[in-house]
Amino acid sequence: MPPPAVFRFGPLNIPLSQVFLVSKLSFALVNLKPVRPGHVLLAARRPVARFNDLTHPEVVDLFLQAQRISKIVERITSAESLTLCIQDGAKAGQSVPHVHLHLIPRFEGDFANNDDIYDAMAHQPRVDNPNRSPRSPDDMAAEALRLRAEIGPSWDTQ
Ligand code: AMP
Repeated sequence: MPPPAVFRFGPLNIPLSQVFLVSKLSFALVNLKPVRPGHVLLAARRPVARFNDLTHPEVVDLFLQAQRISKIVERITSAESLTLCIQDGAKAGQSVPHVHLHLIPRFEGDFANNDDIYDAMAHQPRVDNPNRSPRSPDDMAAEALRLRAEIGPSWDTQ
């Protein structure tokens, strides 16, 4: 079965051109407003808001795909480490109410203090405040293509 033309991400519709991995229960997308270049997202395909809403198979798939993507992100950005993070609920900074894992490449000295990354995430432009400068669809599609080429076929949509 071919992948759908758009993937639901909370209230948003993500075009297939911005998606770089599709498994049975998860999909990965490039970021409209990354904290750092290479910051990507991995979401459950079922549009549920909270981590505990996921079934066991969804949790397993999400983290297996996270391992797969983290290797690629680290390799193509030459990152030395990664921040993997779920903002689980609005009070934790979640702005898109749909379970997703952030994968962010990290480098020595990339933030003055290591945990400033969480400040940066908190001050990311939010979907409810779109008057910031999002990336262009072309830019996002180009990144997705590059990641797809590295990941290999993953349109596992059965
Ligand atoms: P959170 O604040 O943890 O819910 O993360 C939401 C993430 O979604 C942020 O990294 C945003 O930059 C990202 N985001 C918001 N809108 C879009 C969009 N249309 N396409 C891709 N990423 C988006």
